[in-house]
Amino acid sequence: MSIDEYKGLMVFAEQREGKIHPVAYELLGKGTEIAQKLNVEVSAIVLGSNMGDELNELFYHGAQTVYVFDHPVLADFDLLNYKHNIARLVNEVKPETILIGATHLGRSLAPRIAAAVNTGLTADCTALEVGEEGNLVQIRPAFSGNIFAYIRTTTRPQMATVRYKVMQALPRDTSRKGGLIQKEPDIIDSMLKIVGKETTGGVNIAEADVIVCGGRGVKRSNDFALLQELADALGGITGCTRPIVDDGWMGKEHQVGFSGHTVKPKLYVAVGVSGSPQHLAGMRDSDVILAINADPSAPIFRLADYGIVGDLYEVVPKLVAEVRQRS
Ligand SMILES: Cc1cc2nc3c(=O)[nH]c(=O)nc-3n(C[C@H](O)[C@H](O)[C@H](O)COP(=O)(O)OP(=O)(O)OC[C@H]3O[C@@H](n4cnc5c(N)ncnc54)[C@H](O)[C@@H]3O)c2cc1C
Repeated sequence: MSIDEYKGLMVFAEQREGKIHPVAYELLGKGTEIAQKLNVEVSAIVLGSNMGDELNELFYHGAQTVYVFDHPVLADFDLLNYKHNIARLVNEVKPETILIGATHLGRSLAPRIAAAVNTGLTADCTALEVGEEGNLVQIRPAFSGNIFAYIRTTTRPQMATVRYKVMQALPRDTSRKGGLIQKEPDIIDSMLKIVGKETTGGVNIAEADVIVCGGRGVKRSNDFALLQELADALGGITGCTRPIVDDGWMGKEHQVGFSGHTVKPKLYVAVGVSGSPQHLAGMRDSDVILAINADPSAPIFRLADYGIVGDLYEVVPKLVAEVRQRS
């Protein structure tokens, strides 16, 4: 099949409990920018059950066409049925580019769709560009986050998963409209049965406005209580670097960085964090960064807006007292 037969850009709109995940809006924002350069259409595909008005949000955020597969089996993530129905649509519509959020769900789904439609996949992109010949240039950290790889695909569709919080959504505009196309789902027996749902302790670090992140400068796991005090005083939550997770001091849901979460809070306080490339990859776009480190040559200070050189065990309690006094 000729690659010229493929046209347009399609965003997979993940939903949870009937609510569209905001990464879909970010992908529609970037997708619109790419589609305008190539003069093609942006569509979204969503699988769910009785999504109602929530589907309009996809138009408000830039989708020109929305393909919907509606069935009770699709209310929750059913890997085989999701893959099967998306692959059917991709083979029918032939989008040139497909963007999927690099969430847990997206990371599991995207390679399976790629295999089903016989194409490649660039996982975990942090930037996308349009190349000279109109190809999608898929940019992602490589070699443990030390370099950025620029990847072009010769097959179609061009598929990429993109990290949450790295692209900009369009401002919500309720005057945007588009075409809703209901597709008949083909439900297969995936043998999936949901027996219960568990949350990760209510921590959603990607959405936090204030994050107090602790690194190996924190000497004992109990000392994270200090950071928690600062986070509470600032109305935020605690995060950590990877060694802290590796040591079992905090759960993976708190980890910021290349192999953890990408975050974009209004305020990021890095406490006893050196600022490795792998850590910076997850927090460099924070609005304001305050670093507290005993070593004035720590790389984190090169990125930080404000820095305090000092022992965190002296600095953090003073900060807590100061914040409490002012609030
Ligand atoms: C494939 C791969 C993926 C990775 N993914 C991630 C990731 O997602 N997230 C991540 O964070 N890392 C990740 N890493 C690990 C990364 O390379 C670093 O090892 C890690 O970020 C270092 O964590 P740290 O800053 O806590 O520790 P360190 O580098 O040991 O830094 C500790 C800092 O604390 C300071 N300090 C010590 N005592 C005090 C004190 N009393 N007061 C104030 N400051 C003090 C020191 O000066 C130092 O700068 C990854 C590595 C690889 C290879």
